[in-house]
Amino acid sequence: MFKSRFLRRLYAGYVAIIVISTISVGILVSRQVTENAIKEIDHSLAIQAELLAEVAKRALQEIHSGQGIPSYLQETIIKLGQNTESRLTIVTNDGAVIADSRESPQKMDNHAHRPEISSARASGSSTVTRFSDTLQQRMTYRAQQVAEGQTVLGFVRVSLPLTSIDRRLTQLRLTVLFGASIAAVAALLLAFYFAKRFSDPITKLTDIAEAISQGDYSRRIAVTQNDEVGTLASAFNRMARNSEQRVAEITSDRNRLAKIFAGMVEGVIQIDQDQKITLLNHAAAEMLNISATECIGKPIWEETRAKEINDAFEQAINSRKVVKARMHRSSKTDAVVIDIYAAVLNNDADYPIGAVIVLHNVSELDHLERIRRDFVANASHELKTPITAIRGLIETIIDDELMDTSTRKSFTNKIHEQTIRLSSIVSDLMTISRLEGERVETSDKRFDLNEIAKQALASAAANCQDKGLSLKTKLPPQALAITGDPEAIRQLIDNLVDNAIKYTPANGLVSVTLDQEDQLAILTVEDSGIGISPQYQQRIFERFYRVDKARSRELGGTGLGLSIVKNIAEQHGGSVSLRSQPGVGSTFVVTLPIQSG
Ligand code: ADP
Repeated sequence: MFKSRFLRRLYAGYVAIIVISTISVGILVSRQVTENAIKEIDHSLAIQAELLAEVAKRALQEIHSGQGIPSYLQETIIKLGQNTESRLTIVTNDGAVIADSRESPQKMDNHAHRPEISSARASGSSTVTRFSDTLQQRMTYRAQQVAEGQTVLGFVRVSLPLTSIDRRLTQLRLTVLFGASIAAVAALLLAFYFAKRFSDPITKLTDIAEAISQGDYSRRIAVTQNDEVGTLASAFNRMARNSEQRVAEITSDRNRLAKIFAGMVEGVIQIDQDQKITLLNHAAAEMLNISATECIGKPIWEETRAKEINDAFEQAINSRKVVKARMHRSSKTDAVVIDIYAAVLNNDADYPIGAVIVLHNVSELDHLERIRRDFVANASHELKTPITAIRGLIETIIDDELMDTSTRKSFTNKIHEQTIRLSSIVSDLMTISRLEGERVETSDKRFDLNEIAKQALASAAANCQDKGLSLKTKLPPQALAITGDPEAIRQLIDNLVDNAIKYTPANGLVSVTLDQEDQLAILTVEDSGIGISPQYQQRIFERFYRVDKARSRELGGTGLGLSIVKNIAEQHGGSVSLRSQPGVGSTFVVTLPIQSG
C-alpha cells in the first residue's frame, strides 16, 4: 500500500497535520465546553439559591419575630432537594442550621464561619469550593443572604458535590473526544485518498523516468489529469518520444559510421593520451597482423611494435601537424609497404587527447611505381644503344672525308640496321602504350580467328623458308569468332611465330596449331629451338626481359614481344602459358574465349 516513498511522506505530512489540528481543536473545544459547563453550573446554583431564598424568607421572618422554626420547613427542604442533585441548607443570621436537604439540622454545627456564609454576609452572595466536613467530600457552595430591608434574616446555601460536576464534565469531554476521533478518522481516510490520487501519477512518472534512464524509451504515461501533473506527464511523453527518436538516429549514425569504418580499405587506429588503443578497424588489424578486439585498451607499442607508427604519432602530437611516414614489412609472400598518416586529436580546449593514425597499404602502387621506373630506365637504355651507335657511325663518316666507299657502305648498312632496330623498339613501345591506354576500343569488333591465323602463317611461311625451317600448320575447318581487336590478335600470332623462327636454328621445325575446346580457341606455337630454362620461364613475359640480350639484339629483338603477347591475350579475356626445355624446344599456348551465336 505504501510502496511509494513519496506517498508515504505526503501521507505522513497529512497525518501530522490532522493529528496536531485534531488535538489542538479538541483541547480548545474541550476547554471551552468545560468553562461553559462550569458557568452554567454556577448560574444554575445561583438560580436555585434565589428560589430557595424566596422559600426560606417567610420561615426566617417567623424565626426572627420569635415564633420558632416552622415545622414544615425541614420537610419542604427535603422535598425540594429530592428533585435536584443539589443539597439545600437554610441558616439563621447567627449561623444555626434550621433546615438541610441531606442532614438533620440538629446534628449540624454552627455555620456562621463557613467561608461561603462569611462572604455572603459581606457581599450578598458568594460561591466557594471546599471540602465538606459534614458530607466528607469536595463541594461547590453557593450562599445567598436573605434580608428584609437592612435586616439580615439568614442565609440559604445550595451546594453540589464536585464529583457530580466532574462526571458531567467528563461526559462532555468524552463527547468532544468522540467527535474529534470520528472527524480525524474521516480526515485521515480522505487525506489518504487525495495523497494517493496525487502521488500515483508521480510514482508512475518516476518509474518511467527510471526505465528511460536504463534505455527503455518505449514506455509512456497515460495522461488522465487536466492539471500540472497531466501537463508534466504529456511533457514527459514528448521528451521520451524525442529521446527515442534521437537515440535511434544516433544509433543508426553510429552503425553507419561503424560500417564505413569497418569497410574502409585504409587502416584506422585511434589512441588516447596514454597511447592506449581505443579504436582499431579490420583493415588496420590485418595490416599489422593483430586482433582487432583484443588490442583495445592496450598500449599501441606493445601491440604493433612498429617504431615508424610510434615516431609518427609522437611527432604529430609534438608538432600538432599531420605527419606522414612510410613503413616496410615483409609478409610471407610479399614485401608490404604502408604509408602512415598521424594526426593529433584535440579536445574543445585545444588540448591533445590522443591521435588518429591512418594506414594505407601502398604495396601495389609501390610495385607499379617500381615497374614504371624500371620501364623508363630500360626503354631509355634500349633507345640509347642504337642512337649511340648511329651517332658514332655518322660522326666517323663526317670526320673521315677520305673514307673508302666499301667502308662507307658498310657503315651506312649498320646505320640502317640500327635505324630498323630503333623503329622496332619505338613501334613496340607504341603498341604497349596503345594496349594499355585504349582498352575499350579494342573490344568492339567481331572477327574470325581462323582467318587471321591463315594470313599470319602465309607471311611466316616465307620467313621459315628463308631460314631453312619446316613450318607445320593445322587449322580447324570452322570459323572461330572472337570479339576484340583483329590487328592486335594478328600481332600476337606474329610475335609468337617470329620468336619461334628466331630462336630455332636452321633445319628446325615450327608448328602452329589452332583448335577449339568448348568455348575456347587454343593457339599452340611450338618450335624445336633453343628452349628456355625453367628459371627464366616466368620472367620472359616481363618488358625488356631477355634470356640472352646479345643474341636477342642480333636477331633484331626488342625484349617487348612476349609482354605484348601477354597483354593482348589478357585484354581479350584469355591467357598465355609456356612449356619449354632447353635444347629441345618451346611451346607457347594461347587460349582465347570464343563468342557463341
Ligand atoms: P625478343 O624481342 O628479345 O625476342 P621477347 O619478349 O619476344 O623479346 O622474348 C623475350 C625473350 O624470351 C627472348 O629474348 C628470348 O630469350 C626468349 N624467347 C622468346 N621466345 C622464345 C623461343 N621460342 N625460344 C626460346 N627463347 C625464346
